[in-house]
Amino acid sequence: MSSSKERIAIIGAGLGGAVAGALLQHAGFDVNVYEQAPSFSRLGAGIHMGPNVLKIFERIGVAEKVVSISSTPSHWFSRDGISGDYLSRIPLEGYGATYCTVHRGDLQGIQCDALQPGTLHFGKKLTRIDDNGTDVLIEFEDGTSVRADIVIGADGINSRVRETLLGAEKPNYSGWVGHRALISSDKLRKYNLTFEDCVKWWGPDRHMMVYYTTARRDEYYYVTGVPHPAWEFDTAFVPSSREEMASEFEGYHPIIQALIESTDEVTKWPLFNRNPLPLWSSGRLVLLGDACHPMKPHMAQGAAMAIEDAAMLTRCLQETGVNDFATAFGLYEANRRDRATRVQSVSNANTFLLTQEDPSWVYGYDVYAEPLRTENAA
Ligand code: FAD
Repeated sequence: MSSSKERIAIIGAGLGGAVAGALLQHAGFDVNVYEQAPSFSRLGAGIHMGPNVLKIFERIGVAEKVVSISSTPSHWFSRDGISGDYLSRIPLEGYGATYCTVHRGDLQGIQCDALQPGTLHFGKKLTRIDDNGTDVLIEFEDGTSVRADIVIGADGINSRVRETLLGAEKPNYSGWVGHRALISSDKLRKYNLTFEDCVKWWGPDRHMMVYYTTARRDEYYYVTGVPHPAWEFDTAFVPSSREEMASEFEGYHPIIQALIESTDEVTKWPLFNRNPLPLWSSGRLVLLGDACHPMKPHMAQGAAMAIEDAAMLTRCLQETGVNDFATAFGLYEANRRDRATRVQSVSNANTFLLTQEDPSWVYGYDVYAEPLRTENAA
C-alpha cells in the first residue's frame, strides 16, 4: 500500500479529473486538482450517467445525491425521426445501479464538492510540465508553479499533458456538429404530445437525443448529431437558432417540431475525436478521459469512460503505491485500453441502441469487480 506522502497533481477538474481527485483522496493520497477556468458556471447541457458510473459514485459518497437531482428513465427508446415508429426499447434498470440523466453543471458541482476543501485550485492554466526524472515541475499561466511526484492529465480533448507526451496535434474534426438546447417543461404543456424520459430520434443521416435533466422534470434537453462539412470557427461553440434547427429537421416528427418551436436558445458544437494514442503514460505523466481517448458523443459514454479511467487508475495506484507509479500506469493501461477503445469505436460509429440489443457490456460493467490483468493490452 502507498504512503500518503507523495504528491499527486491532476490537471483539469472536468468530469474525469474531479472524480479522480475525490477517489484518490478517499484512498488516502495527497492530491491537488488544478483547473484553468476561473470558476464553473451552469452552462445549458445535460449528460447521461449510466449504472457503470453510479457504481463509482458510491465510492465517493455522491451516488444518492446524484440520483436525487436526476431524472431516472426506465428505458432508452429509439424512434424513427420521421414516422415515430419504435426501433428499440432498451431497459435501463437491472445493471446494478441507477441510470441517471442530469444537468451537467449540477453534476460537476457535486463532483467538485466531493474534493477535500482547499484542494481544487481554479484559474490555474497549465502552460509547461517538466518531468526531470525525480519529480515534476508544473508551471501555470499566472506565473505560479508547483511540484508533484506524478501528474494526471485530465485536461480534455486539447490536453496540454498529451501534447507534452506526444507533440502538438489538433484533434480530428468528425464532420458532425451537435446542437444543444434546454427547454423549460412549462413550454411543452400546451402540446397534446408525450415527451418521453429518454428517447433518441433517428433520421437517415442525423439524430436528436432528448431527455429530462432534473428529478422534477422541469427541464427537457436535446442534443443533436448533424453532418456539417467543416468547422469554420475558433471557438468551442457558436450560437445556433430556431430557424437553423427548423431547416435541419424539416419534415421530422411533430414532437421534434414542438421541441424546436419551444427553443429559446440553442448552441452548436463541433464534434472532434482522435485515433487511439500509441501510449497512455510516460515517466511520471499519465492521461485519462478525453485527453486520452476522445470520441463522438453518440453513445453518451465519453465522461463515463473518463470516470471509469479515474477509478481504475486509483485502484492500480492503491495496488502499487505512488513510488511504483510505472507499474501502476502499466496496469492501468492494460486494464482500460481495450474497453475505452471499443467504446470509442462504437460511439464514433453511432449505432448504439439503434436496434434491440443488450447493453449490459456497457452498463453492467463494474470497474471494481474485474480481476486486474497484468499484461499490457497495447
Ligand atoms: P473535460 O470534461 O473536457 O474536462 C477537462 C477539464 O480540463 C476542463 O475543465 C478544462 O477547463 C480543463 N483544462 C483544459 N486544459 C487545461 C489546462 N491547460 N490547464 C488546466 N486545466 C485545463 N459523455 C457522457 O458520458 N454522457 C453524455 O451524455 C455525453 N454527452 C455529450 C454531448 C456533447 C455534445 C459532447 C461534445 C460530449 C458529450 N459527452 C458525454 C462527452 C463528455 O462531455 C466528455 O467525454 C467528458 O467531458 C470528458 O471528461 P474529461 O474530464 O476527460 O474532460
